[in-house]
Amino acid sequence: MKVTFLGTGTSQGIPVIGSNHPVCRSSDPRDKRLRVSVLIEVDELNIVIDCGPDFRQQMLSNQVQKLDAILFTHEHSDHTVGLDDIRPYFFKQGDIPVYAHQRVMASLQKRFDYIFDSENKYPGAPSVQEHVITNTAFTVKGVNIIPVEVMHNRVQVFGFRIRDFAYITDAKIVEEEEAEKLKGVDVLVVNALRKEPHHSHFNLEEALDFIQKIKPEKAFLTHISHLLGFHEEVQAQLPPNVYLAYDNLQIEI
Ligand SMILES: [Zn+2]
Ligand SMILES: [Zn+2]
Repeated sequence: MKVTFLGTGTSQGIPVIGSNHPVCRSSDPRDKRLRVSVLIEVDELNIVIDCGPDFRQQMLSNQVQKLDAILFTHEHSDHTVGLDDIRPYFFKQGDIPVYAHQRVMASLQKRFDYIFDSENKYPGAPSVQEHVITNTAFTVKGVNIIPVEVMHNRVQVFGFRIRDFAYITDAKIVEEEEAEKLKGVDVLVVNALRKEPHHSHFNLEEALDFIQKIKPEKAFLTHISHLLGFHEEVQAQLPPNVYLAYDNLQIEI
């Protein structure tokens, strides 16, 4: 299984438009972060988690030739607004399978009504195959996927475990029962926004505590704000098995 970090930034990305913050002006490519998403290549399948505003650019820079599924974590714009850009895949492959919680699917139907319309469809509009998921394991073309429910303040979010890889974003609270599902993973990806506390995201300390509790072999931090600091400086302060993810980083599991 190969995982590519397509984006590792928080909702505004880094640099933030119009910002003079030193991290936004950094020339280190690892300080440039698109909105969060990962590509998972497993058993010849390309599975993408989330489809944010940078989806087009992410698919182009990684030369992703086909798309077997999009798994949505939740409905926030930084995770969903790229959905129109599945069009080239739709033209090549037909309806694109999307997996989401019922509430998230309803939100997508409202925001992308022309994609979900079955009548009077505008020619050229893409179509999706809807798969509503609950907090129980499901399969994508034979690959087993375990949803892990976390809370993003009051918003329910799905993380996903595929074999010994798990991806959690936008978490603030993870109940014991859900954390149990992550035990034994080799690689855990988890969100760490900044050093200061935040009402709906883990800060660095909370993310590190969570990693301590799960004890993966390696952990990667994502959904990063410019306020966390320079990649190089933050990385130097992390425990030995914890890494700040950066855009286009690839890992084999
Ligand atoms: Zn987010
Ligand atoms: Zn969110």
